[in-house]
Amino acid sequence: MTNPVEEHNSEVYQPERSFAEQLDANDPLASLRGRFECPSRSDGTPLTYLCGNSLGLMPSAAREVVNQELADWSALAVEGHFEAERPWYAYHEQFRESGARLVGARPGEVVMMNSLTVNLHLLMVSFYQPKDRRTKILIEDGAFPSDTYAVQSHLRARGIDPEQNLVRCAPRTGEDLLRIEDIERTIEELGDELALVMFGGVNFRTGQLLDMERITRSAHANGSMCGFDLAHAAGNVRMNLHDWNVDFACWCSYKYLNSGPGALAGAFVHERHGRELSTPRFAGWWGNDPETRFKMQEIDEFTPRVGADGWQLSNPPILAAAPLVSSLQLFDEVGMEALVEKSRKLTGYLEYLLDEMLTKDCTIITPRDPAQRGCQLSVRVHDRPRERFDRLRPAGITCDFRHPDVIRLAPVPLYNTFTDAHETACVLGKT
Ligand SMILES: *Cc1c(COP(=O)(O)O)cnc(C)c1O
Repeated sequence: MTNPVEEHNSEVYQPERSFAEQLDANDPLASLRGRFECPSRSDGTPLTYLCGNSLGLMPSAAREVVNQELADWSALAVEGHFEAERPWYAYHEQFRESGARLVGARPGEVVMMNSLTVNLHLLMVSFYQPKDRRTKILIEDGAFPSDTYAVQSHLRARGIDPEQNLVRCAPRTGEDLLRIEDIERTIEELGDELALVMFGGVNFRTGQLLDMERITRSAHANGSMCGFDLAHAAGNVRMNLHDWNVDFACWCSYKYLNSGPGALAGAFVHERHGRELSTPRFAGWWGNDPETRFKMQEIDEFTPRVGADGWQLSNPPILAAAPLVSSLQLFDEVGMEALVEKSRKLTGYLEYLLDEMLTKDCTIITPRDPAQRGCQLSVRVHDRPRERFDRLRPAGITCDFRHPDVIRLAPVPLYNTFTDAHETACVLGKT
C-alpha cells in the first residue's frame, strides 16, 4: 500500500549513508547531541541509542546540578531549605512555567512531584468519582501494566468489581491501532455508566498518538471525566491540555524528558478543578497553602493551594528533582516546535529506510501519518523476532523489544542523528 507520506518520503530521501551525513550537516539542532552523554561500544565510539522512549540519555549539565545539591547539603544542611543555590523549600516552583509549557498548560496547572503511577493514583482519587450507575472506567486494551493495575486497584478499593467496571477499548480484529470513531462509539455506548476515560496519549507499544482533544470532547459530552497518561507523549509531541479541556494527566520524566532513572514525575490538573478547593483529594502538608503550612499547632485543617500544587503530599526529593532543572532548560531553549519539526524529519527518514531495507516479514505498526505518532516506530517482526532483536545489541544498537514480536525504535530529536537512523536500518536490514 502506498500512501502520500511514503511517496513524499521517497522523493525527498535517498538510501546512501552520505545522504544521512548530509542531513546531519544541515540539521539546525545537530549541536544538541554534544550536550548529552551516551554509552560507548568497546571500541570507544558511542552506541546507536534509540531507547530514549524507555530511558533518555543524560544531559551533561545534570551532573553539575546534582553536585550543587550535594554541595549545598554538605555546606548548609538544614539551612539549604532557604539558602541553597536553588532553595529546596520552593524547588518545585522552578518547574511551574517550563513544566506547563511542555504539555500546553497554564502556569499553575502542572506540578512536578512523585512518580508516575503514584500521580495516577492521586489523580484518580480526585477524578474517579463513581456515583449511582456511573461507575465504569474506560482504558485502552493493552495499556501499560502499571496503569491497568492502578485502575483495577482503584475500583477494588472503592468496593467496585473490576470485572464488570473496567472496560477496554481494543483495535478491530486484525488491526493494531485504535480508531478514534471506535473510542467515541464506546464512550457513547457506555453512556451514564461511564465515570472516567483514561488513555495513554501515545501508546507505549505501537507509538500511536491519540486525538486527545476529540476523546476529551466525547467523554465530556457523555458526562464523564477524562485523563491521560503522557509517559510517551511528554517531550515527544505537542499538546494543548488546557485548551483541550483535559481534566487531568500525569507523566514520568525519565523517558523523553531525560531526567534520569526514577526522576520526579509530572501532573496536570485543569485550572477549573485546581481552583475548586473542595475537589476531593488525598492531602499532605506540601499541598497546603504555604501561608498556613507551618502553623501546624494552631491549624489542623488542610487548606489546599490553588492549582495542581494542591495535590502535593511531601516535600520534594531534591536529588530526584535536580536533573529536571537541566532537562527542562534544554526544552525551553529549543522549544517543542523546533523539536517536533526535526522529529518528523528524523522519524520519516527512519521510516523510509526501514521500508527500503527491511525484509518483507517486517511491518511498521506505528501510524504512517506523522500527525498520529511521535518519534517512535514499532516494527513487528514475523520471522524469529527475538533472535533478530538479540543481534542488535552486539552490533551497537540499543533499542528494545516488546513481547512477542515488536522492536521499538525511538530516534529522539534532541540527541539522535540521521546517521543513527541509517546505521539502525542497515543493521536491522541485515539481521
Ligand atoms: C513508563 C510508563 C509507566 C511507568 O510507571 P512508573 O510509575 O514511572 O514506574 C507507567 N505507565 C506508562 C504508560 C508508561 O509508559
